[in-house]
Amino acid sequence: MPIGAIGGNAERNRSHNQKVVLEYVRANEPAGRAEIAKSCGLSTQAVSNITAALEEQGLLMAVGHKTGVRGKPAAQYRFNPNGAYAIGVELRPDALVTTVMNLSGEIIYKQREPLKDAKPDAALRSIVAAVATAKTEVKLKDDGLLGVGIVMPGPFGVTALTSAGEAVLPEWDDIEPHSFFENALDCPVLIENDATAAAVSERIAGVAKGLDDFCFVYFGAGIGLGVVAQGHAQRGAYGNSGEIGHIITQANGNLCACGNHGCLETYASRYAARQHMKQFGIDLVTGADFANLIHEQDPNFQNWIVEAGTHLSQVIGTLENLYDPQTIIFGGALPHSVIDALIDQIKLPVGSVSNRPDREIDRIVRGFSGRETAAIGGAAMVIHQTITPKV
Ligand SMILES: [Zn+2]
Repeated sequence: MPIGAIGGNAERNRSHNQKVVLEYVRANEPAGRAEIAKSCGLSTQAVSNITAALEEQGLLMAVGHKTGVRGKPAAQYRFNPNGAYAIGVELRPDALVTTVMNLSGEIIYKQREPLKDAKPDAALRSIVAAVATAKTEVKLKDDGLLGVGIVMPGPFGVTALTSAGEAVLPEWDDIEPHSFFENALDCPVLIENDATAAAVSERIAGVAKGLDDFCFVYFGAGIGLGVVAQGHAQRGAYGNSGEIGHIITQANGNLCACGNHGCLETYASRYAARQHMKQFGIDLVTGADFANLIHEQDPNFQNWIVEAGTHLSQVIGTLENLYDPQTIIFGGALPHSVIDALIDQIKLPVGSVSNRPDREIDRIVRGFSGRETAAIGGAAMVIHQTITPKV
């Protein structure tokens, strides 16, 4: 199962024609069967079967009859935004974020909890419990659940970065996450890299609405990159593209857990900030701890911001010249005030393809969805894959 693809339980996956009808009604409601048949290129009989099935699944609602039309009045259908839900879960080395999204893309539940043990068996128990709590809280029926999108930091599979320090999940290299979670949750599961999910979240409901080419710099425990190019998330051959934390920004610099010296992650990540502040006897644990240091204008933390900004500035120039993005978004597991301080510190390189006079959006912007952005992306991707027809 490739990263990002939803699978399993074929009988629960809607057919292509069901998706076509659902998408049409969503955009054109209320709509009658004859209209749907004509517009979707389906027979009236096929549309009757499909609308009956979608009504039974709770995804469409019959809403009376159109008046003023001669002959037998035809039933009209509306899209039912609360007919189905998706759950998004972000697994971080130290926290679990759970969200529930309805078919209209509204977030109807979100919960963040610290995670003591992120090893596979313990993390699985925590996720199963978090999903069960979410279902209870929103009174979610099992047959309304489209699937669970689980978002986690890479790398996936065994690579030379697999054991690269505190920023990766411990002991996951032998786990195939898709079947691991699907067996335990007994519903369709989608697995995605945190930075890619965050990028998708911003495109569906955030600052990247309407953008087809952009980058998302994701501050998790480490630092990752999500890239959307020509409207598609870029994943690489093994789902591991975007490991920018291990791009070297300082020759002979800090020793990184990956074995190299001078990786970006050792300067400009949540982990790097924690290491930096430890020298001054401050243990940064929660987002509020970070926000307080900004609020108090702590000089040691300001020094970290300045150094992180220097290293990020180099990488921004590289990303711009590599991808020619419409913008680069900063977001993830840091409070808005810290993200804003980092953005303020970036010296945008003059020599860049992105330095052009006809820009419509700033070269760097802060994400809209905040610290739940990746979990929201996980839920949004499930909804997108199960109800949107592939062209
Ligand atoms: Zn490294």
